[in-house]
Amino acid sequence: MAEPGKITMPRDPLVRLENVEKHFGRHHALKSINLEIDRGEVIVVIGPSGSGKSTLCRTMNGLERIDGGTITIDGQPLPEEGRALARLRAEVGMVFQQFNLFPNKTVLENIIFAPRKVQRQSKTDAIEKARQLLARFGVADQQEKFPAQLSGGQQQRVAIARALIMEPKLMLFDEATSALDPEMVRGVLDIMQQLAAEGMTMVVVTHEMGFARASADRVVFMDQGQIVEIAAPNTFFDSPRSERANMFLRDIL
Ligand code: ADP
Ligand code: MG
Repeated sequence: MAEPGKITMPRDPLVRLENVEKHFGRHHALKSINLEIDRGEVIVVIGPSGSGKSTLCRTMNGLERIDGGTITIDGQPLPEEGRALARLRAEVGMVFQQFNLFPNKTVLENIIFAPRKVQRQSKTDAIEKARQLLARFGVADQQEKFPAQLSGGQQQRVAIARALIMEPKLMLFDEATSALDPEMVRGVLDIMQQLAAEGMTMVVVTHEMGFARASADRVVFMDQGQIVEIAAPNTFFDSPRSERANMFLRDIL
């Protein structure tokens, strides 16, 4: 019952996961996941290895099919196949730990591939946008190189540019800095922080607790396929409610 005199606005989250289930054979990887992500919100997902963080990300752009519950993005149920799924992947950008660039395409070709193929952008437009993104991320002079000729930090900037050129509604970062040499981490985190400040809706799986404190609107703590806690970063880090979160933080901090 609504309280008298109190106006409750209907919620209009960008992403809504309801009772989402995922099994890999007998392994129950996601257990009744419920999560709503508002437009412009930055969610940082943390938890032990194997807790389901990557699987959670991958379900949100259709890389993993769910076997229970529902996911809607911008009010639309997640398509399972075909061109609708390709369009969804354009709207939900993902950046991986291992960059996942096409090794046999140049940097520029990597970035313009999806806009040309999925969005049917003209080559001139796609190249123009790609150049702007590369310049913004400080890798303009790398556009004719192949991924293997770039440092990890440069490859990850290219991977972020490749996702952003599609003008996604949502960006997923799955341990985007975990494979980088230490001196490369800051630059990539800075780019992520800029995107967050510009209002991008983001789900970020990371071990960078500094980033979580500075940029997260909410921290989601997962363990054994479940969301154990959702809290504001300072609340979570300073006084986690669950014993599992306490143990996790004790181990990593
Ligand atoms: P995290 O990213 O938190 O480390 P994951 O989401 O990668 O965890 O994995 C969650 C669990 O699901 C792990 O036990 C993992 O071994 C299992 N898993 C993930 N992907 C697959 C797969 N394709 N086939 C079988 N098991 C998988
Ligand atoms: Mg993972």
